[in-house]
Amino acid sequence: MRKMMELYRGKTKTLYSTDQPDLLVLEFRDDISALDGKRVDQFNRKGLINNKLNYFIMSHLQKAGIKTQIKELYSHNATLVKNLKMAPLEFVLRNRAAGSLVKRLGIKEGTALCPPVFDLFLKNDDKHDPMVNSSYCRTFGWVSSDHLSRMREITFQTNKILNTLFSEIGLILVDFKLEFGIFQNEVILGDEFSPDSARLWDQKTFHKMDKDLYRQTQVGLIEAYEEVANRLGVNLD
Ligand code: UDP
Repeated sequence: MRKMMELYRGKTKTLYSTDQPDLLVLEFRDDISALDGKRVDQFNRKGLINNKLNYFIMSHLQKAGIKTQIKELYSHNATLVKNLKMAPLEFVLRNRAAGSLVKRLGIKEGTALCPPVFDLFLKNDDKHDPMVNSSYCRTFGWVSSDHLSRMREITFQTNKILNTLFSEIGLILVDFKLEFGIFQNEVILGDEFSPDSARLWDQKTFHKMDKDLYRQTQVGLIEAYEEVANRLGVNLD
């Protein structure tokens, strides 16, 4: 499989075409960003760690019956993926209060949310990813009602599978964001699952092991991401 043209450069990942139209190369760069892309930095090895972590977690979800975009590892910092038609939406599930929920509602960070809270955002940095709901999706035609329900259903299934996975390695899955696309009229989990797009806290110490380290202190980010990978048994060589 040959990597060809750069198709899309996001804040932390780049998509390339290949010699097969149905397949793309998803490259994880060492970049990290916050504040809708206004703050950007680089961390050595971050691309490699997130690529391997994402591949491990997506493979785990796939084995549990969730269809994902991944085909195979392409290199240390890239994965061969199916070419999906992405929905411009972010599906967020929260098991504990953190981030924007704390800011919006003034709930104490760490409060357990039972049942988990589901949020839907439009993916649009210029508009600061505004919160939307199923009615907006219908009116503006971002995704069909059937596909939206399926995406929501997979988000909850993913939560169950990953809550188990992370609790087995002493981590709390606080919240996470997923993105979906359509391939041959079927909903497929796309984009990534990594500590950039999920909050993970140590069960005993409540230490943060995710992108909040960058958002808040800028200390120990790579060490924390490596620790998550090591606990999962992901080979980072
Ligand atoms: N998230 C993400 N990309 C975004 C917004 C949020 O990956 O553009 C993730 C974030 O890392 C967290 C979850 O979605 O795990 C919920 O984020 P929240 O709404 O609390 O927003 P934040 O304050 O983190 O931007």
